[in-house]
Amino acid sequence: MQYCDVVVDISHEKLDKTFQYKIPSAMQDDLLEGMQVEAPFGRGNRVITGYVVALSDKPKFDPAKTKEIIRIVHDATSIDNQLIQLAGWMKRNVGGTMNQALKTVIPVKEKSKAIVKKTVVLNISQDELKDEYASLVGRARHSISKERLMQALMDNDEIPWEVITKKLNVGSGVIRDFEKNGIVRVRTENTYRNPINHLQGDEKKLTLNDEQLRICNRFKDEYSARDYGTYLVYGVTGSGKTLCYLEMIEHVLSLGRSAIVLIPEIALTYQTLMRFYRRFGDKVSIINSRMSKAERFDQFERAKKGDIKIIVGPRSALFTPFPDLGLIVIDEEHETSYKSENVPKYHAVPTAIERARIAGASVVLGSATPSVDSYRKALDGEYRLMELPNRASSDSMADCEVVDMRTELRSGNTSIISRRLHELIEDRLSRHEQVMLFLNRRGMLGCLSCRSCGTTLKCPHCDVSLSLHRDGKMHCHYCGYTIIKPSVCGKCGSKAIGGFNIGTEKVEELVAEEFPSANVVRMDMDTTKGKSGHEAILEKFANREADILVGTQMIVKGHDFSNVTLVGALAADMSLNVPDYRSGERTFQLLTQAVGRAGRGSLAGTAVIQTYDTEHYSIIASKNQNYQEFYDKEIVYRDLMDYPPCSHMLLMSIQSEDLRQADGQAKVVAEMIKKHFPDVRLLGPQDAGIAKIKDVYRKSIYVKNRDYQVLVDIKDIIDEYLIDNNSYNKAYVFFDFDPVNTL
Ligand code: ADP
Ligand code: ZN
Ligand code: ZN
Repeated sequence: MQYCDVVVDISHEKLDKTFQYKIPSAMQDDLLEGMQVEAPFGRGNRVITGYVVALSDKPKFDPAKTKEIIRIVHDATSIDNQLIQLAGWMKRNVGGTMNQALKTVIPVKEKSKAIVKKTVVLNISQDELKDEYASLVGRARHSISKERLMQALMDNDEIPWEVITKKLNVGSGVIRDFEKNGIVRVRTENTYRNPINHLQGDEKKLTLNDEQLRICNRFKDEYSARDYGTYLVYGVTGSGKTLCYLEMIEHVLSLGRSAIVLIPEIALTYQTLMRFYRRFGDKVSIINSRMSKAERFDQFERAKKGDIKIIVGPRSALFTPFPDLGLIVIDEEHETSYKSENVPKYHAVPTAIERARIAGASVVLGSATPSVDSYRKALDGEYRLMELPNRASSDSMADCEVVDMRTELRSGNTSIISRRLHELIEDRLSRHEQVMLFLNRRGMLGCLSCRSCGTTLKCPHCDVSLSLHRDGKMHCHYCGYTIIKPSVCGKCGSKAIGGFNIGTEKVEELVAEEFPSANVVRMDMDTTKGKSGHEAILEKFANREADILVGTQMIVKGHDFSNVTLVGALAADMSLNVPDYRSGERTFQLLTQAVGRAGRGSLAGTAVIQTYDTEHYSIIASKNQNYQEFYDKEIVYRDLMDYPPCSHMLLMSIQSEDLRQADGQAKVVAEMIKKHFPDVRLLGPQDAGIAKIKDVYRKSIYVKNRDYQVLVDIKDIIDEYLIDNNSYNKAYVFFDFDPVNTL
């Protein structure tokens, strides 16, 4: 590349303003997007520093007049520099433009006006106030406003400023007058500045148990020796991973550095937050999606200035500009919400590792059900594995039973609740213990399974479920294999073949019918709309105002209810039918998390897994609560079928409002890959899982290769074609590496 675009002013609004420079031949092999450079600027050629955001072979202006870069600045110390390097890495490895990457890592500058809340507080005793009042009204010509304010203060020691000026119609001059005489004082608070300044409490510091102590000591020893790296804390549900995170963070803080803690949005509850706040007080802040852009920006500013040392938040908190970042913790690292579905489609885990590498920091990933990807890296020694095999606060894990719903059906029970689960619910209700019923909704749409034998239809080439499309045929999302929808089960000949389609609302209704004395609440997308919808439901359940909580996967994540002694997983195998190679992993994770909800307190717990497929290893391993057993089977399948982590996959989604454009572009892209990379496995092009969204047609192409870099090379070649000689300029190509959402 001979030319590069340089951005001089790093702020969100000015990223589009770039200047082109020539790259001296000596630098051509070294210069990458994201690097800081020195260049001559303006008429006087004063030397400025800027960042390279694009490389190209084409001059935009007269080459004779284009100036040259002076030198590459190798300086990773400033936080801007670190984040821009990260954006460069993201652009190269994840796809999208440098501009999109920069806009992801650099916060929108949006200063909110400080919403100053003023309160007028009585500064003398009520008795003294009475004296003041008497002397005031004793005067013949006294101010009625003053009289009104004094009367109000006799009822309330504290009155918001607005109430006085607007409701009592007392002018601010009067308040200031009172303030001068010492009758009142005015308290001011910046309401947005610190989103958690209303929290308080002291941490009753738990003592680490031996297992926790072992992993914390290892972390601290290595950290103190500046031996930074990525750790995987594989700890069963309830093993006390959070306590370990707190301990590790404290160590990092004691060395003057800061920490980012990522938690899935759904688990960002008051409970979780309090644990951080109790330990670290004002040094902690949070970010969540309910905050305005300005509020979020404020938290980033506080981090930059050093006002806070720890931020807790979802994926985007990863870009908190701590100048001295020392640790990134990613709790529930297997969660799919850590993958961005917007361009650039980055995943928080590798991005965190890259950010930590640039900053000289460590990463701690934690999960009771590590992603197959992370666990494999841990076994390979790329991550440092640390285990917490036992629960911290109770003696044992829940007992787990599997109920075969095919047998239930044959013996005439058509209820969604098996006889065994019914019996256990009755028992818990009579003992005033609580029950959670988890309806596995994933995979319910569009797939067919046999209610008699449990068989689902799969693609013979890809070994993932086929799904029913509008054309009435069954399709494979990966390779496009298609068959006519069968009317009987190919294995057992039964006609009881179809989709399982029942919502949580229906379950709530049926449960309420079967257990009329029970108080049932429901939690799903519908009931949790609004600002704190799910908090309210959880609080109700935590306060034991309800006996049974019915819900989707939302209810199995991270909540700690000590009185829950029974968890029922309804239609447990449904998520096995998701047309995605990760369906076995998701099912194992969901069921393990669900089982882990039972018996968290001093009472022993039981879990019941209801399924049509009792033989699948994901079901058996979650019954046994045995991650290793699951992993050993799963990795064989991934290896055999060339799925990540054994191989890598790149999804190219070709989208256009014009079907011919989408079709044509997809064919060109596929041909190009075949020509340049004859050895990679190419699937498609075919209709995407959802072939049309909002009038945009979607085609997809998958390529698989064991070498990630080959996929990056494919992306680069296609990117180049799209810029230089795009034959279908109304069809866009989006790249998604190791995609999570394949619909
Ligand atoms: P995980 O995140 O691993 O599922 P948590 O961190 O939520 O587990 O801890 C589960 C429960 O065990 C919490 O109620 C926590 O207070 C308690 N706990 C954790 N560590 C200890 C300990 N060392 N001593 C006593 N209780 C502990
Ligand atoms: Zn069958
Ligand atoms: Zn297929």
